[in-house]
Amino acid sequence: MNDRGIVFNIQKFSVNDGPGIRTVVFLKGCPLRCKWCANPESQLVRAEIMWDEKKCVHCRHCIGVCPLQAVSVRDGKIIIDSSKCDGCGKCFHECPGKALKNEGELKTVREVMDTVMQDLPFYEESGGGITLSGGEMLAQPEFAVSLLIASKENNLHTCAETTGFAKQEVFASVIENLDLILFDVKHWNSEKHKEGTGVNNELILANLKYAIDQGKDVLPRIPVIPGFNDSIEDAANLARVIKEAGSTKCQLLPFHQFGENKYEQLGREYSYKDVTAYHREDLEEYRQTMIDCGINAFF
Ligand code: SF4
Ligand code: SF4
Repeated sequence: MNDRGIVFNIQKFSVNDGPGIRTVVFLKGCPLRCKWCANPESQLVRAEIMWDEKKCVHCRHCIGVCPLQAVSVRDGKIIIDSSKCDGCGKCFHECPGKALKNEGELKTVREVMDTVMQDLPFYEESGGGITLSGGEMLAQPEFAVSLLIASKENNLHTCAETTGFAKQEVFASVIENLDLILFDVKHWNSEKHKEGTGVNNELILANLKYAIDQGKDVLPRIPVIPGFNDSIEDAANLARVIKEAGSTKCQLLPFHQFGENKYEQLGREYSYKDVTAYHREDLEEYRQTMIDCGINAFF
């Protein structure tokens, strides 16, 4: 078990990540590279520095102060090479404009639980608890297990949002202490899945079936992404693979653009820039197709 992990956010009073009022703990690191990812700062299992152009006074102090030569300027933009950066903090502590921000902090289970337990009365009142999110909590499986065991010792309801991408023995060890699994299913076709996310889907679908076979409460969720999995054929086939895994329901998550600014701040390309977001009414036919195929699809 691992007592420490990298956390990039702890969000209190969430009502969209499982039942009741919850505290969501975002663990850093993800083995997938979804082209539409809304949390690109969560993908690496290490600290990452984000640069906010609006706050930068272009003094270039960060370039001189970095002991690892990880900071440079290109076309007037500050670029941080995350493969060189060790998160020492010199640049963001000394930045006069507060234009640099560190994403990801090493925390102990105790530190996380101290924050989570502050809202115990709200969990008890609303039927809420803790939700692990990311990134992908399976990228730090030992830390995730430690957090879930500590949560169960405190009688909390436990939930996780997951891509399901991990070796089955790793996945099994993490879900043991989970009451609810919000399980993303992104594409029914393995090649297409790889095109959009960087990995194939066989392991993911096998883990979905495994969790359901274990009697776990699993809610499959489909992020509906323009040009990736949004056709009626996709809806019918996604319904089919969810049924084959043993579920009869799924939640649809229409594509949104919440992550766009973050790509700029990280100095990365964003392939979904300017792609129009979906609204529920755009996906009625999609939802109805899934219902016709025997899956209770809802938003
Ligand atoms: S130190 Fe801060 S304000 Fe100065 S160039 Fe770097 S990011 Fe911009
Ligand atoms: S955190 Fe440290 S190593 Fe990373 S870019 Fe800033 S000064 Fe350089």
